[in-house]
Amino acid sequence: MKATCDVVVVGAGPYGLSAAAHLNACGVNVRVFGETMAFWDRNMPEGMCLRSPWEASQLSDPGRSLTIDAFQSATGVSVSRPVPIARFVAYGRWFQSRAVPNLEQRRVAEIEKSTTGFRVVLADGEVVRCGRVVIAGGIGPFAVRPPQFGGLPQELASHSSEQRDLSIFRGKRVVVIGGGQSALESAALLHESQADVELLVRENTVQWTWRRPWLHTVRPVGAVLYAWPDVGPAFISHAVARPNLYRMLPRTLQDSWRVKSVRPNGVGWLKPRLRDVSISTGLAVVSASARGNQVDLKLSDGSHEPVDHVLIATGYLVDVRKYEFLSASLVSALRLIGGLPVLGRGFESSVPGLHFLGAPAVWSYGPLMRFVAGADFAARAVSRSVARVRRRIVGRPVVNAVQRPQSVAVSRSQEGQ
Ligand SMILES: Cc1cc2nc3c(=O)[nH]c(=O)nc-3n(C[C@H](O)[C@H](O)[C@H](O)COP(=O)(O)OP(=O)(O)OC[C@H]3O[C@@H](n4cnc5c(N)ncnc54)[C@H](O)[C@@H]3O)c2cc1C
Repeated sequence: MKATCDVVVVGAGPYGLSAAAHLNACGVNVRVFGETMAFWDRNMPEGMCLRSPWEASQLSDPGRSLTIDAFQSATGVSVSRPVPIARFVAYGRWFQSRAVPNLEQRRVAEIEKSTTGFRVVLADGEVVRCGRVVIAGGIGPFAVRPPQFGGLPQELASHSSEQRDLSIFRGKRVVVIGGGQSALESAALLHESQADVELLVRENTVQWTWRRPWLHTVRPVGAVLYAWPDVGPAFISHAVARPNLYRMLPRTLQDSWRVKSVRPNGVGWLKPRLRDVSISTGLAVVSASARGNQVDLKLSDGSHEPVDHVLIATGYLVDVRKYEFLSASLVSALRLIGGLPVLGRGFESSVPGLHFLGAPAVWSYGPLMRFVAGADFAARAVSRSVARVRRRIVGRPVVNAVQRPQSVAVSRSQEGQ
């Protein structure tokens, strides 16, 4: 492996693998770091199914040939709908072996700007110099743990991302906090594992989507109401599915539609599985304190509830300053809106040559970027942008293009911000 390369990709989830597949195909000298589908494998519950529909659960390669259908044909493994997480992880690994064989399952410890581009330090001490960095590090560091649970040890209160095997709570009294898909599905899985589970939802009702599946699937109605990734409410979904169009909408509309599109809700197929689960709405936890092996929850109606464990499924709040591998000087050079980088063409940040994919791109490219479905758009955009720079600097590697501060490609990319 060379200690210098054109591009480093950080991350081997849907976004990192898709971006790497496209960059590999355009002949760029790319090094890719991360553990294949690690977040899906370790930080989501066993037995979970994807909420995204089949078409929106595909990773992206240039020929759109490494699909879940192709995975089934090539391996003989059948995948049901909704897609079970274990199968999705297996699909991701298969995709990686085909499209990103150059993946290095290593951790990036620090990224900093250098005079010639970037200096990427790996956890094992190797230093890689490159012209561009594509960050697809996922949402792991952004888990929200409300302050009420701050003083409790993980044995008594854990974030949903910290629990893979929910069967360990068999026979225990568990309260799940949250009203989104993760909370609802965790409650269903806990119930099915014979835990005594209660779901506590702050809002007055649980919101459901896909209550009438035919509205999403039967043509022509479904196609008029919802675009293929099925992210966001009816009609709005079409704008969300077109990130270039979404970017051109007035900022107030982008912000309002972003909130509407990622509002906590559950997919209709979960509802029957929660029939026997106690769901309390309009209730919040005021405080939580340890009492021996239990937690005493004080609720907003004044009541107290002793439980064995609190599962905090309150989601993720993206703030790239929490990526520990970004050096302080790099973070201070980033133009951020509430922790989200402002990205120009090709997902490039205000630091030339530094790109962000996945959830950090939502402020600039809309809510599709929180989902696997956005990986195809993002991977194509970033590889086009890298290839464009390369074409301009004929015969020179991309690393040199970024060395030149007045590079046309760099200033162009900033125009879109
Ligand atoms: C419970 C739950 C259910 C979800 N269900 C769906 C769903 O059904 N459909 C959907 O579209 N989305 C779903 N999502 C959202 C999903 O997380 C994102 O769509 C998807 O994971 C984004 O992919 P990614 O590549 O950005 O990040 P990730 O899949 O999180 O990948 C991050 C990668 O970065 C690597 N990495 C991180 N730090 C470093 C480092 N320092 N050095 C090297 N590598 C590093 C990791 O090893 C990993 O490979 C769900 C999220 C949750 C929490």
